[in-house]
Amino acid sequence: MATPHSKVYFGDRIIDAQDATLGVATSAVLYGLSVYTVFPVQVDGETRTAFRLRDHFQRLLESCKIIGIDRFADEWDFDRFLAVTRELIAVNAPDREVYVRATVHVDEQIPGTRVRGLHTTVSIFLYDAVPIVPQDGMRLKTSVWRRIPDNAIPSRAKVNGAYVNSVLAKQDAIDSGFDDCIFLDINGHVCELSAANIFLVRGGTLITPDVTSDILDGINRRTILTLAREEGIPVQERVVDLTELYIADEVFVCGTSAGVAPVFHIDGRTVGASMDIGPLSAMLRKRHHDALVGDAVHGWVTVL
Ligand code: PMP
Repeated sequence: MATPHSKVYFGDRIIDAQDATLGVATSAVLYGLSVYTVFPVQVDGETRTAFRLRDHFQRLLESCKIIGIDRFADEWDFDRFLAVTRELIAVNAPDREVYVRATVHVDEQIPGTRVRGLHTTVSIFLYDAVPIVPQDGMRLKTSVWRRIPDNAIPSRAKVNGAYVNSVLAKQDAIDSGFDDCIFLDINGHVCELSAANIFLVRGGTLITPDVTSDILDGINRRTILTLAREEGIPVQERVVDLTELYIADEVFVCGTSAGVAPVFHIDGRTVGASMDIGPLSAMLRKRHHDALVGDAVHGWVTVL
């Protein structure tokens, strides 16, 4: 089980991890009223780099806007976020890749079920980068739980409380002997995994549910789409049926904590022809990895 590295940013200061605690009566604890993002930091000797940091900050802002957490945008901009991240990474001095979780907590005491104008506290901590799904061919199960629709709790906002939906589905998959779940929306179309986006390849075309399919607009999903287009691969972002996954040539998932990882079984069916990562998946995984550790083209890498 990953634990936070020793120093944590919390409430405008860097403090010991065990002291970074939220009160039991805060909205963050009572209602899961926090939004967050997780981004990777690569370590190469003395050089530490974050991947698509600006996009992560922007998504955090957008999550706040959707939920109505309005004080974060007043108090934070990207430069402040970058400065704090830099300081935190310098203090902890990780010697290998870490994931960094930045969260905006609504931490006012017993304010009831409302949000606007309430006090927020930002926490940022790092932990060892251990992927949340097998990297060598995972087994997925269609979830008995449906993805929360945009008009209930929007998946587009990365809000902590909404992750109960992911917990239910992932636990159901684990209890049934699978690695992770495939969420369907209320109409039975494919959304994503518990914490990763999904792609399939059929006849050389790369296909993924579009951003209005009750998914998180994943930053690695965007990365894969950009890289695929640059490679001249036909790409479709559209509604996806579950049975398209059953007859796909290749299926893979992506996310900060999932990596780019192939899927070999879905609901008892073998994906594609062999128990090996497919050629397109392998190529995109490599391009994605190269971008992560040293993209020089897109401006995706920030030196910390
Ligand atoms: N979907 C969900 C539900 C997630 O929690 C995540 C992980 N943040 C993703 C997709 C992948 O998003 P990203 O590529 O930005 O990590």
